[in-house]
Amino acid sequence: MRFSQIIGHEELKERFIRSVKDSRISHAQLFIGNEGNGKLALAIAYAQYINCTNKQYFEDTESISSDSCGVCPSCKKYEKLIHPDLHFVFPVINSPKHKEPVSDNFLGEWREFLSKQSFGDLNLWLDFIGADNSQASIFTQESKEILRKLNLKTYEAEYKVMIIWLPEKMNVSAANKLLKILEEPPPKTLFLLVSEDEGKILRTILSRTQMTKIPKFKDKDILEWVRNNNPNELNAQELEFIVRLANGNILKAQEQCQKTVMNTENFENFTKLMRLAYSANIIELMGWADGVSKLGREKQKSFLEYTLRLVRENLMLNVVKTNEIVYLDKKESDFSSKFHPFITAPKAAKIYREINLAFEHITRNVSAKLVLLDMALQLTIIIKSN
Ligand SMILES: [Zn+2]
Repeated sequence: MRFSQIIGHEELKERFIRSVKDSRISHAQLFIGNEGNGKLALAIAYAQYINCTNKQYFEDTESISSDSCGVCPSCKKYEKLIHPDLHFVFPVINSPKHKEPVSDNFLGEWREFLSKQSFGDLNLWLDFIGADNSQASIFTQESKEILRKLNLKTYEAEYKVMIIWLPEKMNVSAANKLLKILEEPPPKTLFLLVSEDEGKILRTILSRTQMTKIPKFKDKDILEWVRNNNPNELNAQELEFIVRLANGNILKAQEQCQKTVMNTENFENFTKLMRLAYSANIIELMGWADGVSKLGREKQKSFLEYTLRLVRENLMLNVVKTNEIVYLDKKESDFSSKFHPFITAPKAAKIYREINLAFEHITRNVSAKLVLLDMALQLTIIIKSN
């Protein structure tokens, strides 16, 4: 990973670059920051930069800019996270396959995870490896691995790098075994500890590392990232909302983007269904059911939940005749202003029943196409009735 592939954090990148230029690379460093910032990505980019054999500098009196080249043999291995002198330690889980697990047991998954989620947090990582409710930890046996690897000679790089992600998850005896090597590491060895919770790291480890606080992302960086990752899918209002809600946390921005895109898709399917039901257009309703049946079960469930919510909000509009307790965005509100007279209390009760039934059947893996078509036909009858 190159610095330029990470959004924002400009001041820090410059500081790292200067430390390399001035040969002031501290051998044990701790990056601390909240979830959803670029700390792990920065640690990897920093290590790649240190070991790049073809760094280019651009410096004037004001600033310095530089990056790893991305194409030298070291960079190429770093980009795939397969450099023999780059080591990772991260929380893992006990499993039937690995009774005394160490990070290397999960290295394949780890590389894949980072290639998709360089800003990921522990929850995303645990989801990724299907941890369910297993407790994740850096277990005692990991310290033996760390010592073994650091005592190997360096294969090809100038620096051997050990990146420890979430040292706060390190079991106490594992942490204690590392103290000596953290204090007196073999020459040209670099420890980069990347943490989200300074308070849970042993004081003895804290005192042996040089700390860098990694701040949250700036709003402008989040905005740029969201734009680049969701072209054409979000309008200006939605973008602004996402950036505000994210408050510098890119994971929150990512989650909200997915929700917003899903909400738009659900809205479109909902309004189409209700219009077709109102006009009792059976042929097109069949096409509608066919389309939604191809979305996959989770999206269908999300759609049904969305439909329940919109019907409920329209019932509120109909019965209470006020906007104050109704939670609708602009497009939903525009649609509902004309739609809500059709949702009387008796009709709403019947619609709920049909949607809940469809939800239950979809959960039980009944053919989605049949379930959705049946639901659409029932809704047609309900909406057309007096
Ligand atoms: Zn390079």
